[in-house]
Amino acid sequence: MRVPYLDLKALHDPIQNELNAIFHQVLEESYFVYGQQVTDFEKAFARRLGIDHCLAVGNCTDALFITLKMMGIGEGDEVIVPAMTWITDAEVVSNLGAQPVFVDVDSQTYTLDASKIEEKLTSRTKAIIPVHLYGQMADMMAIMEMAKVHDLKVIEDCAQSHFGQHHDRLAGTFGHAAVFSFYPTKNMGALGDAGCMVTHDERLYQDCRKWANHGAADKHSHEFPGGNSRMDTLQAAVLLLKLKYIDAWNKERIMLADNYGKAFSVLNDIEIPKTASENKHVFHVYNVLTKERDLLKKFLKEEGIQAQIHYPKALPFTEAYAHLNSKTSDFPVAHRMQEGGLSLPIFPGMKEIQQDYVIDKVMQFYKV
Ligand SMILES: *Cc1c(COP(=O)(O)O)cnc(C)c1O
Repeated sequence: MRVPYLDLKALHDPIQNELNAIFHQVLEESYFVYGQQVTDFEKAFARRLGIDHCLAVGNCTDALFITLKMMGIGEGDEVIVPAMTWITDAEVVSNLGAQPVFVDVDSQTYTLDASKIEEKLTSRTKAIIPVHLYGQMADMMAIMEMAKVHDLKVIEDCAQSHFGQHHDRLAGTFGHAAVFSFYPTKNMGALGDAGCMVTHDERLYQDCRKWANHGAADKHSHEFPGGNSRMDTLQAAVLLLKLKYIDAWNKERIMLADNYGKAFSVLNDIEIPKTASENKHVFHVYNVLTKERDLLKKFLKEEGIQAQIHYPKALPFTEAYAHLNSKTSDFPVAHRMQEGGLSLPIFPGMKEIQQDYVIDKVMQFYKV
């Protein structure tokens, strides 16, 4: 048997007719940029989150860049970024001329360790970017409290946590702003690149909207040099459809994670993901920690199972940030994840026989 890490065809097959209707309609209307569906999606997504404003853009990296830029973050500023996340969160800060200041992640939730932030704050610190990694939210209560005390902006990275929750509140509703990715493999993915930022801050929203449209509120009134970042009409139409299914898909992920958790609980050599009691984890990634990570990955591959590593290098240890001369002991949890983390297949549409096969093979590897 072959079990891919993710099977987007299995996800899309059940909604193929609806997707075809969308393709047909978008082609009929031929309003490929700034079509009505973009506005409709922005309104629908904001409403689902209970947030005033949503700006649809080209991808999440753009959304974060634009948000930080319009918050005034730039040369000389410092921004707190978790040591273990996708590179977006650090590179965007660097590209603004500011400095990402890495903080280790928590050993239980793998998200920004709030207890280690304070020691990294300086007079130049302007913002914190908590990342709700793998689908579980960071300790937003503690982070927002700290931000209030030190007058810092908080931008949640929700790229992996669509409709995840913390104390019964949705991801993206805690910070001054939040960004989402709709990259095809995310819990809610487009059929190509797409992203958005959300905020209650009307002024910030208007500024970001202008930046994404060449510094203009309409076509030609350029108030400042901006750029171009837009969500295609087609992607917005697809995402509007997917809003109908995301809860069911997340439920499926949670169920699959639960099956893995029950099966692996008998294993001593594998650390399964833990969900903090105040969180609803939406399992974008099912990441286990094991000392035999490379051997397990190789064994699974030989048995037809595709596992992935998120991520092979914690950000301080990438070539991009090698100049900071970080030591392993500076980021012990992130380093442990880098060395031992393995993400097992999990996706809506994953069949019971596929998951049973993965479980059997993991058990076989540990000779249970
Ligand atoms: C995918 C991802 C991003 C980047 O999203 P894009 O839409 O590809 O720019 C940012 N942060 C995290 C945590 C991600 O997983």
